[in-house]
Amino acid sequence: MLWRADAAAGGILMANLLGKRYQCGECEATVLVTKAGDGDLACHGQPMEIAQAKPLPSSD
Ligand SMILES: [Zn+2]
Repeated sequence: MLWRADAAAGGILMANLLGKRYQCGECEATVLVTKAGDGDLACHGQPMEIAQAKPLPSSD
């Protein structure tokens, strides 16, 4: 799954980092945080890790 929305990095340190992208280590699920402190991000029963910023694969 992939959630996308307009969001600027606010440098807010909370449960979730606004503007940061989290990715599951078991699948390709990716979440772009648009609301800091929105709770735990988890997939496959484990916390999601912050993914490094990188361009989306050109699948078009
Ligand atoms: Zn997963």
